[in-house]
Amino acid sequence: MGFARPGATRQNGCMAYEFERKQRIAVLGGGPGGYEAALAGAQLGAEVTLVERSGVGGSAVLTDVVPSKSLIATAEATHSIGEAGDLGVQFFSRGENGRPVRPEVAVNLEAVNDRLLRLAKQQSEDMKSQLIKAGVTVVQGDGRLDGSNRVVLSAGRGRARTDFDVIDADTIVVAVGASPRELPAAQPDGKRIFTWKQLYSLDALPEHLIVVGSGVTGAEFASAYNVLGSEVTLISSRDQVLPGEDADAARVLENVFKRRGMHVLSKSRADRVEVTDDGVVAHLADGRTVEGSHCLMAVGAIPNTAGIGLEEAGVQLTESGHIRVNRVARTSVPSIYAAGDCSDFMPLASVASMQGRTAVFHAMGDAVFPTEMRNITSNIFTQPEIATVGWTQKQIEDGIAQGEIYKLPLSSNPRAKMMGIKDGFVKLFARTGSGTVIGGVIVAPKASELILSIALAVEHRLTVDQLARAFSVYPSLAGSITDAARAMHIVN
Ligand SMILES: Cc1cc2nc3c(=O)[nH]c(=O)nc-3n(C[C@H](O)[C@H](O)[C@H](O)COP(=O)(O)OP(=O)(O)OC[C@H]3O[C@@H](n4cnc5c(N)ncnc54)[C@H](O)[C@@H]3O)c2cc1C
Repeated sequence: MGFARPGATRQNGCMAYEFERKQRIAVLGGGPGGYEAALAGAQLGAEVTLVERSGVGGSAVLTDVVPSKSLIATAEATHSIGEAGDLGVQFFSRGENGRPVRPEVAVNLEAVNDRLLRLAKQQSEDMKSQLIKAGVTVVQGDGRLDGSNRVVLSAGRGRARTDFDVIDADTIVVAVGASPRELPAAQPDGKRIFTWKQLYSLDALPEHLIVVGSGVTGAEFASAYNVLGSEVTLISSRDQVLPGEDADAARVLENVFKRRGMHVLSKSRADRVEVTDDGVVAHLADGRTVEGSHCLMAVGAIPNTAGIGLEEAGVQLTESGHIRVNRVARTSVPSIYAAGDCSDFMPLASVASMQGRTAVFHAMGDAVFPTEMRNITSNIFTQPEIATVGWTQKQIEDGIAQGEIYKLPLSSNPRAKMMGIKDGFVKLFARTGSGTVIGGVIVAPKASELILSIALAVEHRLTVDQLARAFSVYPSLAGSITDAARAMHIVN
């Protein structure tokens, strides 16, 4: 089925699209990918139905981004109190004999978890209201594809039949996300061994948390629980934490972890995790064992693409089960698009949203800017944070990109000194010859907020001289970005 590009007329300064009949879009999954696709469809005047089996906002809102970043906000507050002494802040109360007593900083994890689950629920409800307000029909249920233009809902035990059991659509956007990978020899039970989705049921800080997996998720939780006051052992199968990330950034983080008392076991593969009477034991491949009170398994995610009719509809999957998409999120079947973690793009909420929107704009003939993998900004919410954009140092060193590298430690930044920041740097990559900014890395508190200027430079192909001409506030951490750009000046 196809349809002609709609005629467009301008009304009150807005483009209004007149279709011969409304285009019908079915969206499977209500995480950031599905949510944005649905909103974009409604904005362009389509009839949109979104099928979601648990809650609008998806894993991003209910179990992944929102809860984890709220937990990390508490960790940051705890960290600030802990470090305040360096800036001359003293906390004490008077004991019975009038002498000062140093109070202990304690974290009420039950209250923290209540707060973050409340935030997540509220955010999910807000997003659902936004969809309904925009005119999207939100259907609760488990959906699958029946061919390339139809979504059907599973009957499900006790579920009443509705008008939406079969949804015919001109375009389908699959945005079903991914789930934590589980190892048979370390089965999460939600009591002693956890996936990241189960951690929020803890009502007290684990005495000793073993984190298996030192990728982004493992590193973020290890960092947060360490700062909150748990003893933490991070088991990493590689020779450094955060494999695949900027090596200097990973090194800074690993040093910070060790300085804070975290046990980092590199080149150590956990083969098996066993629950004991009062805790857990992780068995490493080399025969060593690690005892702890609880264990978080953070060993990756698998896409939720099995058994939902994708192959039958002709949609190509990768070996790992991810849906192959192009830069406008279109699959091998023209009427089917895929956004977010179920696709073979980058597993980030921001990317899922962009893909969802791009997919619908493309399907409806609106102007589209294909998603450029190279320009995607990402952040690791450890303390300090690690933000990156563009080409990497490894790609430059391997000759995949031609570039110059300049690294400026934050120890030379006046604001960092005033704030007592001990670790971090700004690194810029610029094209050899032209000086065009092609990437960067920031390791700093709130690096996620600082990276935007480098992301803008990468997106708009600014040169280091153009970046350097922008005024940064004095004193500011952002000053290190313009300082690095100045140092990379291209002599004409
Ligand atoms: C701990 C953690 C922290 C993270 N932090 C960040 C961060 O800070 N920033 C960031 O950008 N990214 C972060 N991510 C990644 C981010 O969570 C994902 O990239 C994002 O959730 C992807 O969105 P999505 O729309 O693809 O899928 P999801 O958010 O997973 O949503 C998919 C939805 O589809 C539904 N669904 C699945 N199958 C069906 C079906 N058959 N029928 C109906 N509904 C179905 C599910 O119920 C779910 O609600 C984090 C991930 C983790 C694990």
